[in-house]
Amino acid sequence: MVKLKWLGHAGWIVEFSNLKIVIDPFLTGNPKAAMEEKDINNVKYVLVTHSHFDHIGDAYKIARRNKAKIVGMYELTLDAEKNGLAEDDFIGMNKGSLNNLGDISIGLTAAVHSGNESGFVIRGDNKTIYHAGDTALFGDMKYIGELYKPDVALLPTGGFFTMGPEEASIATELLRPKYTIPMHYGTFPPIDSNPEEFKKLAEKYTNVKILKPGDTFTIP
Ligand SMILES: [Zn+2]
Repeated sequence: MVKLKWLGHAGWIVEFSNLKIVIDPFLTGNPKAAMEEKDINNVKYVLVTHSHFDHIGDAYKIARRNKAKIVGMYELTLDAEKNGLAEDDFIGMNKGSLNNLGDISIGLTAAVHSGNESGFVIRGDNKTIYHAGDTALFGDMKYIGELYKPDVALLPTGGFFTMGPEEASIATELLRPKYTIPMHYGTFPPIDSNPEEFKKLAEKYTNVKILKPGDTFTIP
């Protein structure tokens, strides 16, 4: 059973049968954070989609305290020392393939944004999750869908810095995930889009699950 807990914004805890990971843990300074940094325990990997504050957030702190490895673009490792970490506290990858880390596989995907940006495909316990990171709509989402067949897509729908509801609904048409959960909305005024609007547009392509920060979705 794979469980996804929304921490608010683009942050998630994903629980597989024998390990737990956290993605983009922006908790300190996040008005919608569902947890505090100090309460994130027993994570093996800390995944970071890009270097902006609302994604890297508490990642270094959580990694240091949990002795977890940070997974993301290779360039993140260049800041290791500055953040009290060693080079082997990182799994610095680049975009291109799904990589077997033992219990789970993780791959970086393209994202159209800035800040050494990426998305993630994560596969474990026979379930596949696509976390799009911060991105605009791009046509190659079609191949992410065809190749990895995501059970769940986590898509930004807030607009202003990323896709809004309309663009994200086209993303679901390309990706065809079984389930889609909107994220990266409602944290700050510029990204106050309505997830119901996304749901209305995307429902013909995917099952849309709207969560509140702190809610958990178990992949059926
Ligand atoms: Zn962001």
